[in-house]
Amino acid sequence: MNTMVSDVEIKGATKQFGGNIVLDGIDLEVRQGELLTLLGPSGCGKSTTLNLIAGFLEADQGDVFIKGKKVTKVPPYKRDLGMVFQTYSLFPHMTVYENLNFGLKLRKIPKAEQKKKIDRVLALVKLSGLEHRYPRELSGGQRQRVAIARALVVEPELLLLDEPLSNLDAKLRHELRLEIKRLQKEIGVTTIFVTHDQEEALSLSDRVVVMNAGKIEQISTPTSIYKHPNTEFVFQFIGKSN
Ligand code: ADP
Ligand code: MG
Repeated sequence: MNTMVSDVEIKGATKQFGGNIVLDGIDLEVRQGELLTLLGPSGCGKSTTLNLIAGFLEADQGDVFIKGKKVTKVPPYKRDLGMVFQTYSLFPHMTVYENLNFGLKLRKIPKAEQKKKIDRVLALVKLSGLEHRYPRELSGGQRQRVAIARALVVEPELLLLDEPLSNLDAKLRHELRLEIKRLQKEIGVTTIFVTHDQEEALSLSDRVVVMNAGKIEQISTPTSIYKHPNTEFVFQFIGKSN
């Protein structure tokens, strides 16, 4: 109803690793149902930011809120989220069905419902009929779609995607990009997408957060970032092609 409701909020987050300042005071709000992209060069702090939200890391200073609740000290498994990483993180000894069912069993979803949920999400990622395959019997793109399906099947409040397409060839990357966008809008799950690819960010996102050296340079819609870069860095980074 209210498009300004924020699902995730980061306030004044700093993080150092061995004396290196990796996040230098990050403030960020992610709105309900939006697809927000963290964009910036390798090493600028995108994954660190995502890991603060997921709970794999704790900020040195600052806080993280999910749905208005402070979660700074809440462990990852108690945060209601689905995550997909750059490298395929499927269980190799489990079929597609078993991979998807893993999270449903953990959540004690009744058996009859397990199959319904899995069928539905496999249809969404266009993999119906492949539930008995093992990951090694799938192409790279199919595996990454299974990883996305596995994140979605538990119906998380938040979907976190850390460079999920980086390991795929250009054609697949482009196809899956469109698919993620369609899927995200269809399900309406609040999504944070990490990429170093400016074209990917601009084509996919409701809003883009441009990061550089642990700081946020600009947060805006793709059009506005493209047409009205706020800083020289944004201008240069958006202007350069891969
Ligand atoms: P990005 O995802 O934007 O490429 P990261 O958030 O992974 O960047 O990393 C930001 C910086 O922090 C990099 O310089 C990286 O080497 C450093 N870094 C990340 N994680 C660790 C860690 N666990 N220990 C030490 N340094 C780290
Ligand atoms: Mg990263």
